[in-house]
Amino acid sequence: MKDVPQLAGAKHQPYWWDDAPRPPHVETALPKEVDVLIVGSGYTGLSAALTLARADRSVLICEAKEAGHGASSRNGGGCGTMPYKLSYAATETIFGERRALDLWREGSASVDYVEELVKAEQIACNFTRSGRFTGAHRPGEYEKEARRLEMLRRKLGHEGDMVPKAEQHRELGTDYYHGGRIVHRDASLHPGLYHQGLLDRVKSAGAIVADRTEVLGAERNGAGFTVRTRRGNVTARDVIVGTNGYTGGAFPFLERRVIPVKSQMIATEPLAPELMQRLMPKGRLINDTKRTRNYYRPSPDGTRILMGGRPTLRDAPIEVSARHLRDFLVRVFPELAETRITHAWDGNLGFTFDQLPHIGTHDGVHYACGYLGSGVAMSTYLGHKLGLRVLGSPDAHTVLDDRLFPTMPFYKGNPWFLSTVAAYYRFRDKFG
Ligand SMILES: Cc1cc2nc3c(=O)[nH]c(=O)nc-3n(C[C@H](O)[C@H](O)[C@H](O)COP(=O)(O)OP(=O)(O)OC[C@H]3O[C@@H](n4cnc5c(N)ncnc54)[C@H](O)[C@@H]3O)c2cc1C
Repeated sequence: MKDVPQLAGAKHQPYWWDDAPRPPHVETALPKEVDVLIVGSGYTGLSAALTLARADRSVLICEAKEAGHGASSRNGGGCGTMPYKLSYAATETIFGERRALDLWREGSASVDYVEELVKAEQIACNFTRSGRFTGAHRPGEYEKEARRLEMLRRKLGHEGDMVPKAEQHRELGTDYYHGGRIVHRDASLHPGLYHQGLLDRVKSAGAIVADRTEVLGAERNGAGFTVRTRRGNVTARDVIVGTNGYTGGAFPFLERRVIPVKSQMIATEPLAPELMQRLMPKGRLINDTKRTRNYYRPSPDGTRILMGGRPTLRDAPIEVSARHLRDFLVRVFPELAETRITHAWDGNLGFTFDQLPHIGTHDGVHYACGYLGSGVAMSTYLGHKLGLRVLGSPDAHTVLDDRLFPTMPFYKGNPWFLSTVAAYYRFRDKFG
């Protein structure tokens, strides 16, 4: 494979970790007994922990690697008010209008929840309602986006605008798209600082975070559970699993239902202010209508472009996925042909067979997962709901509660079919 000089020397770790370095490992003594044991230290786990610790429950978070090792410190930092893979129209066909409206309202509510949380907890993570521009990769997609926006306005009161191709440069310095749609209420944040802030608040609230403490399984023990970890057993009255795209064999029910999908990102070197102003004048989140979806945004300090995508869906060497992403970056912004890439990294998303997130309880173990690449706000929100569920609060209810969680015959966590899906998506983007 040909070397790309602009990728030489790129750090293979998230750009976000420059501002939010990985917390140093501290050997934490494991308690023998806790009220609630939480598996995974991403937003789902931390959000549940904060709600529970503030309600005076003793909480232990077990993390297999370092705190925040998973997607929560690696993502693009977009908080979408439409966080579902299914379109509104498809949701309405499947669930009927009332339930579809509730589902979509809850999507928006998850972003409001993060906004309020960040404010109340004074987490400095650059939360801003930047809005999102979705570029139409074909002229016909522009019309479809316009119809979608109209429906969302009518049914849900979403605030948005269509931007025709002739005016596209006021949103994005490219001729690559055929116009696009703006959704004004979508927000962005710095995911590393957000995770760091949540982690700090959780610890101050009294929860114990034990990193390098992989959970191997949980067995019923009277009214509670014996949880087996690599560092010994812990007795817990309740268990919450927040492992999403990193779910392994410790919880086979979830392993059979969550599909791990790779997503990759790159960050450019700092660009001249005039260039940034020309390429991303509004500082919005950007994505597009392709099936092999790309997403990008300015860094929170407005100096660089961060681009993500799922070029392969499966594990690929970082060099390979970074090359795909950089190729696309240059296709959108030919001016960046000589720009160096300083960071390239990846992480796991959690997909589901019915293309919706899930929150529920199986054999007494509580879980929330399957955010399908839109989990920054949803995982925080559903993590909080899990906390309320354990507390027995009437506010625990969500419209996503305890829905049937489908799997596929013979599927056990190895998504062999993803390479075929990726190839099909590429074909549809080109010819479909
Ligand atoms: C590159 C990338 C870009 C993304 N961009 C966006 C975006 O712009 N907007 C958006 O909304 N979403 C985005 N997402 C998705 C979002 O980051 C996730 O949905 C969200 O962070 C999920 O949080 P979580 O806490 O459920 O899981 P994670 O943050 O993945 O945490 C799961 C944790 O569980 C731990 N774990 C697993 N098994 C065990 C075990 N047995 N014992 C102990 N610990 C265990 C893992 O080590 C991991 O740390 C992106 C994701 C990626 C990877």
